[in-house]
Amino acid sequence: MSNSKQTSGACVYCGREMTRGGLARHLRACAQRQQAIATANAQRGSDQTLYHLQVQDAWSGAFWLHLEMRGNATLKDLDFYLREIWLECCGHLSAFEIGPVSYTQISSYGMDISYGQEKSMNVRVHRLFRPGMEIPYEYDFGTTSELLIKVVDQRQGKPTTENPIVLMARNTFQSPKCGICENPGEWVCAECLWDNGAPDVFCAAHAETHEHEEMLMPIVNSPRTGMCGYTGPAEPPY
Ligand SMILES: [Zn+2]
Ligand SMILES: [Zn+2]
Ligand SMILES: [Zn+2]
Ligand SMILES: [Zn+2]
Repeated sequence: MSNSKQTSGACVYCGREMTRGGLARHLRACAQRQQAIATANAQRGSDQTLYHLQVQDAWSGAFWLHLEMRGNATLKDLDFYLREIWLECCGHLSAFEIGPVSYTQISSYGMDISYGQEKSMNVRVHRLFRPGMEIPYEYDFGTTSELLIKVVDQRQGKPTTENPIVLMARNTFQSPKCGICENPGEWVCAECLWDNGAPDVFCAAHAETHEHEEMLMPIVNSPRTGMCGYTGPAEPPY
């Protein structure tokens, strides 16, 4: 599947459609978002640092998310969110790379331990995140999905929802065209995907007659489409 053109998506606060980079700037200034923040900040409770994160697939950049994350939430919360919205197929391991340290699911008898350059994901992100940071993330060390997390901005105040992470925008799903006709592709063949030149995306009708029927995977709004046993649904967990 090739999908190199710029994708756009809508701001959840005001509905305006923009590119990934346009939204990175827009979300700082969006009047409706500022309103939601002012309402949250007027509530009781203590302030914390909240981070604007831009997450994208490391290769094409066609799939992306703009998230707001609480500073007192952990890398584990972010890992959970990314698995739910984009990645989870068979419970593979994953890791965030921050400087020389790899933050993973390491655990021993139910206890998180740390040794060498590997540490537990069970760490609050305000201890690690600073604006301008770029954090590579990998899910599944076999058939790897590589993401890049950019810390775009931070603010001091109160969260706008009860959840550790808020989805502020994501790329609108654009189904690729069927490799045989002009209809929207609904299935990708995991066999033909690695065979240069052969059509690998099929509409419903052409999927039915494709020779590798057992290798067809649904195409969803996720960079993990067609990889390992991934079948979506590519929906946020909350
Ligand atoms: Zn907006
Ligand atoms: Zn898998
Ligand atoms: Zn077709
Ligand atoms: Zn095939």
